[in-house]
Amino acid sequence: MSQEYPLYVILLGAPGAGKGTQALHISKTLGVAHVSSGDLFRAVRESDTELGRLVKSYYDKGALVPDDVTIRMILERLRQPDCVTGCLLDGFPRTMEQAQALDAALKPQAKRVDKVIYLHVSESELLRRLSGRWLCRNCGASYHTVSAPPKQEGACDLCGGALYQRPDDTLETAKSRLEVYFRQTLPLIDYYMQQGKLSQVNGGQSIEAVEHAMSGALRS
Ligand code: ADP
Ligand code: ADP
Ligand code: ZN
Repeated sequence: MSQEYPLYVILLGAPGAGKGTQALHISKTLGVAHVSSGDLFRAVRESDTELGRLVKSYYDKGALVPDDVTIRMILERLRQPDCVTGCLLDGFPRTMEQAQALDAALKPQAKRVDKVIYLHVSESELLRRLSGRWLCRNCGASYHTVSAPPKQEGACDLCGGALYQRPDDTLETAKSRLEVYFRQTLPLIDYYMQQGKLSQVNGGQSIEAVEHAMSGALRS
């Protein structure tokens, strides 16, 4: 995709929809940084600080981290030099307040959200994906025991890092994360649809087919 101005693209979808998996490829195609709120929170969660403990108390239950903390973290990330020409947002915004804060931050710089790709996946498939997900501790890449196994068991194809299962991917916590998604994040679909920015992609297809459909949606 040729880029004449800063390009801000949002990947919207439920936990397990395949946002992280697709973001690796799409951010390269667009030539912009990949900003994942989940990855940023996982790094903070490990730290022995007040913020780390606060994030952990929400994250581990599958609840959303409060908007003020989340918005501050993302807007600070967007001020880094690699985001000046745009970025691919994965996992943010997740509430109406976050979406409005993002718009308000971009506007004075004559920037805007250009495109929102909504990855739709059925609830039963989301639970299947979350329960078999393994992540690289080093680079954050996602694998799945059945649909996307690593070449070598327990090791990341991209960097050789050790793979682990997220504490919030247990069936019980995954179910409450989906409830949070339906209640707090789904309204964003209307918000961006009304602005003519939303493209829906069938995320229930194979990883390659989703990649192809997303490239088409980005060109449209
Ligand atoms: P998200 O970032 O939206 O939470 P991930 O990209 O981590 O989702 O994907 C969730 C799980 O589903 C991972 O285990 C991943 O390997 C797997 N996965 C991603 N896309 C697909 C797909 N199109 N088909 C089957 N499994 C997939
Ligand atoms: P998934 O895509 O599987 O839901 P993420 O890695 O995006 O997971 O997010 C993991 C957790 O990090 C969330 O359950 C929540 O606690 C926190 N989090 C991530 N993004 C946000 C956000 N935009 N607002 C509030 N909390 C967030
Ligand atoms: Zn890795």
